[in-house]
Amino acid sequence: MYNFEILPGLDPKEPVIISGPCSAESEETVLHTARQLAGYGVKVFRAGIWKPRTKPGGFEGVGSIGLPWLARVKQETGMYVSTEVATRAHVEVALEAGIDLLWIGARTSANPFAMQEIADALKSAGAKGDVPVLVKNPVNPDLELWIGAIQRIQNAGISRVGAIHRGFSAYGKHLYRNMPQWSIALDLGRRMPNLPIICDPSHIGGKRELIMPLSQQAYDMGFDGLIIESHCNPDCAWSDKDQQITPEVLNLILHTLVPRHGAKESTEPLALLRRQIDQIDGELIDTLNRRMEVSRQIGQYKKAHGLSVVQSSRYDEIIRSRCQQAAHTGMGEEFMRKVLSAVHEESVRQQLEIFKGKDNPESSTVQK
Ligand code: PEP
Ligand code: MN
Repeated sequence: MYNFEILPGLDPKEPVIISGPCSAESEETVLHTARQLAGYGVKVFRAGIWKPRTKPGGFEGVGSIGLPWLARVKQETGMYVSTEVATRAHVEVALEAGIDLLWIGARTSANPFAMQEIADALKSAGAKGDVPVLVKNPVNPDLELWIGAIQRIQNAGISRVGAIHRGFSAYGKHLYRNMPQWSIALDLGRRMPNLPIICDPSHIGGKRELIMPLSQQAYDMGFDGLIIESHCNPDCAWSDKDQQITPEVLNLILHTLVPRHGAKESTEPLALLRRQIDQIDGELIDTLNRRMEVSRQIGQYKKAHGLSVVQSSRYDEIIRSRCQQAAHTGMGEEFMRKVLSAVHEESVRQQLEIFKGKDNPESSTVQK
């Protein structure tokens, strides 16, 4: 664990828990959610006031009219309040409104100009600017860029700086909304040993059912806390509704998780290497699943065009080219042949299901 209080009263030996809606939508939903969270003992509330959206037209946050709602949460429930900042103006009004903790989003930490502007704004706010700042990883898997963003905030004289691991963008459909690539966060921990690193399973998973397993994995890997999106009525949330849970479910998850005190300290080389293996196996399953998805699409095409499932010339070519490719890495040809043959067998099985009429054999729920 790190060696300072992120906020007074938060024990550095205990995981920090931050929760609240993706976006502050109305005073009612903010307060309703906050009261429930406070009832369950959550100490730090989150709500996005300004929402950076990939495309125009989405809900871009209520803007500074939402800041007094957070002030009310703080006054009524005693929770600390936090929000995301992306510009000098955001920093200034957020500090003015008494926001206790700021975080910087993944689209902002990828931009050194924006990071410097935020760092300068914090510095010119003097003592008032010395709030805890958590820097999310940039959208792209670039550890140096993440470290650079953190250093800009540290160089501005901010004494309590931490990081949030929220996963990395990848093109195409995957199990996770953002790929965890845990080893990048673990490397950050090695490079900056006193930096608290919090995990954001909501944005990594992108769906409710992944929050619990990702949170446990984060604890097992020695993360210092969790930031989890919660909403009093998740199905009606204006942003990220698929990944938001009710405060009640959050409470259940927090009570089910097994904390691993000292997980970070006990990072023996073997344990670290095993974590990497766990991560790579997850990626392998994801990649295989994406291959099957394409294979099913091919199955639909073959069915529609009266082609047979197995076309041996294609199979021979796959085996030949892949074995050749694998030979360059030092993997045995026989091994590669076995793996490819097993993959091909499953591919054929899934295409046959399609031919039998089950157009969506294992159903698209396995995808996503
Ligand atoms: C958020 O926390 O709601 C958010 C926008 O996160 P990220 O920057 O990780 O996408
Ligand atoms: Mn969100």
